[in-house]
Amino acid sequence: MIELLFKKKYFYPDDYKKTVYDVDFRKLWAENIRIIMLDLDNTLIPYDETEPSENIFGFFDLLKEIGFDVYIISNNQKGRVKAFAKQVGVRYVYSARKPYKLGFKRAIKYANYPDPKTVCLIGDQFMTDVLGGKRMEFDVIVVDTLKRKGEKWFTKISKYLERRILSRLKKTDPDFYYRMKLDEKR
Ligand SMILES: [Mg+2]
Repeated sequence: MIELLFKKKYFYPDDYKKTVYDVDFRKLWAENIRIIMLDLDNTLIPYDETEPSENIFGFFDLLKEIGFDVYIISNNQKGRVKAFAKQVGVRYVYSARKPYKLGFKRAIKYANYPDPKTVCLIGDQFMTDVLGGKRMEFDVIVVDTLKRKGEKWFTKISKYLERRILSRLKKTDPDFYYRMKLDEKR
């Protein structure tokens, strides 16, 4: 399956950053991105924490100030996703089942069916965020996983597949791999 998907370049993120704070959002705006979709667990907040940090509030303030329409797209359950999204004041999709398209389509509908080229998805996992985002033809930025210890079994499988994807990228497309600094991906 991974081999088949590789042909379609579904595992090629458009950029790689250490954290969401390292993304240049004014540049994204200048590049005509208008909608930001964010993974929740281990992208915005460690999977085992519930309270947004001060930095996170500032982060969402910046996105809104620039003018982005912002969504949280999470595979996690309603309670956790809703509580976080309400606190930072953005819309959300829970049980999104990334990399399937259904959850993304819910957000797309909320956003009034925008051109996918104006959407940027930011997440920490290749198997859910990068694959799902590229299938939707979004701009995709992959970030480091905030906290890996004690992850759930399905996240561990996803991470195992991610290691395979990364080693395959390194082999088949070393220029891309090193240009993106993917050797640093945690
Ligand atoms: Mg995540």
